[in-house]
Amino acid sequence: MTRNTPIRELKGVGEKRAGLYNKIGINTFGDLVFHFPRRYIDYSETVPVSAAQIGEHAVIKAMVIKKNGAARIRQGLVLYKVFAEDENGDRISIVFYNNRFASEALSVGEEYFFSGKISGNLTRKEINSPTFLKTSEKNLLRPVYPLTEGLTSAMVTTNISEILDRADDGFFADPLPDGIRLEYSLSTLEYALRSIHFPNDSYSAETARKRLAFDELLKLQLGMMMIKNRTRSASSCVMTEEKADMNSFFSALPFELTGAQKRAIEEIKKDMCGSFPMNRLIQGDVGSGKTAVAAAAAYFAAKNGFRTALMAPTEILAVQHYETLSGMLESLGVGVCLITGSMTKKQRAAAAERLCSSDCFVAVGTHALISETTEIHDLGLVITDEQHRFGVNQRAALAGKGNDPHKLVMSATPIPRTLALIIYGDLDISVLNELPKGRRKTETFAVTAKLRERALGFVKKLLDEGRQGYIICPMIEEGGSELAAAKGYAEGLKKTILAGYRTGLLHGKMSAAEKDRVMEQFKEHELDLLVATTVVEVGVDVPNAAVIVIENADRFGLSQLHQLRGRVGRGQHQSYCILIAGSLTEESRQRLEVMTKTSDGFEISEYDLKMRGAGDFFGSRQHGLPDLKIADIAADRELLANCQRAARELLKKSPDLSEYPELRKETEELFTQNDNAAESL
Ligand code: ADP
Ligand code: MG
Repeated sequence: MTRNTPIRELKGVGEKRAGLYNKIGINTFGDLVFHFPRRYIDYSETVPVSAAQIGEHAVIKAMVIKKNGAARIRQGLVLYKVFAEDENGDRISIVFYNNRFASEALSVGEEYFFSGKISGNLTRKEINSPTFLKTSEKNLLRPVYPLTEGLTSAMVTTNISEILDRADDGFFADPLPDGIRLEYSLSTLEYALRSIHFPNDSYSAETARKRLAFDELLKLQLGMMMIKNRTRSASSCVMTEEKADMNSFFSALPFELTGAQKRAIEEIKKDMCGSFPMNRLIQGDVGSGKTAVAAAAAYFAAKNGFRTALMAPTEILAVQHYETLSGMLESLGVGVCLITGSMTKKQRAAAAERLCSSDCFVAVGTHALISETTEIHDLGLVITDEQHRFGVNQRAALAGKGNDPHKLVMSATPIPRTLALIIYGDLDISVLNELPKGRRKTETFAVTAKLRERALGFVKKLLDEGRQGYIICPMIEEGGSELAAAKGYAEGLKKTILAGYRTGLLHGKMSAAEKDRVMEQFKEHELDLLVATTVVEVGVDVPNAAVIVIENADRFGLSQLHQLRGRVGRGQHQSYCILIAGSLTEESRQRLEVMTKTSDGFEISEYDLKMRGAGDFFGSRQHGLPDLKIADIAADRELLANCQRAARELLKKSPDLSEYPELRKETEELFTQNDNAAESL
């Protein structure tokens, strides 16, 4: 047998069970052994019946005293009830639905551990569909696996046990060189695979998890670093300082750049003058002035005779960038053109033609338009905005395009540096950690729905002073219609104190052209109030907007709230953010309090990450990283730092990993498993 042996060869795995396994991506012995427990149940952590909390999970040690026969409750629902008693003589009912097998496995007079959720009331407690073990069992730490309907953790355990019994040395061949393994105090792969499924105690489970997480993070690091190295072919767009007098750019700006902006511009210039193409990320909080940095980079490229393409994720943003960039550059003789999907063919052709002329050096547009339809001569620099929407594979694919121009990506999602190094491991990073001078902190309040009327009164006061405001309407229930919800909410506003104000509506079901029209009206102050779903989140800049009200604030991640809040406080006016929470639990109160206390996006993301874990924080696939099975990039930071060091060590010895063929193969597999490069390129 090998890791590639099909699971059909296991006892008890026929067509049906193999089909279930297949549903969760398991086809071979190897797949199954690398299917790790989600958590463990420790059957030794028992509580007496009297102390078991209703609504919570608990392990109860009790003796079965009576079993009822099957009771048919209704068509297709059969109930099996078993009564048990703990040491103190307190009774608990054990309930199984449609599970004759479970009920039959229990014997009267025998003592068991039952693990499950407690329900019922104070005088009569119940435990529903528990898993159970005889108290005579020795191993009380049992794995709980990610499953699909029809599979149980017990089945998985039996099947894995058979594989581990039959496995030979080849099956456990360790991809990690002994040197690295010993240096970082890691167990062997064999120990890890045996102990993750059948731990002796929680220490051995953790030792196993650490080893397996290390492997996963190491491969992630290796892959990132190899992508970075792969793009290091000689630059065909080498620029020089002499050709571009940045002072004329700086003195044409209406403001003094921040120190952080200046540093970033220096780093970019240095990259573009170097002998390899630039691959840099500008990571900056909302309002930190990324656009000016992008403009400086485009100016530098233009003076060196190279064109720049700036790609935005939406039309609204493309138009906004176009306006900003042409404002900063046209007067300096650097022409800027706009290419968007809502333009007619003729307009687009005209823009493309202009782009070929000798005075037009910058093309601004949406991602798809620029990368697919437009041939840009002398393209030397590609800038992508809000790049957290693009995955690492997409970046790698983009890197291979055309004459391999310099690449600058701008992200407004502040994340802790340690994590940035992982997620953007293929990029160099400049951080804009300084806001422009004179920016006033946006005052933030968290209130319950009871105070909504007062909040709206406050908005009215600001509108009367000539300011504008956003209201982010309530989130839509699963399966609900965004359109109806947003419209309904806007209608509702007409019955409030805000009735008389010019109000626009912005939601995801509108076409790009419709959104643009509304956004344009808001920008021109033809609207006082913009009721929006979260489509407004990304980068829109209206300096006169001084208040944002966010409904259902308790249901957003803090980083997203921070992004939304960044829509205000962009001009000279004191701005306000009002977070309205439907109901406040202690936890959500604490979370929202973080928002009222700090305006530092890095601090907020650190907190968010700690509270919600990496998966939630980034949202499904937002980070564009390969799926991790066992490592948690938020929790395993120390391990991560070690993996980084180890990856560097390995690549130094063997840049293409040819000396470590197993590791190389597994790294490649990790990076191809969910290759979504084609999606948006
Ligand atoms: P973001 O980093 O969120 O993309 P922007 O580039 O949109 O930020 O800049 C936000 C606002 O700050 C813009 O109105 C811009 O003109 C202004 N701004 C940028 N840099 C400075 C600076 N150094 N001093 C003052 N205002 C600045
Ligand atoms: Mg921006």
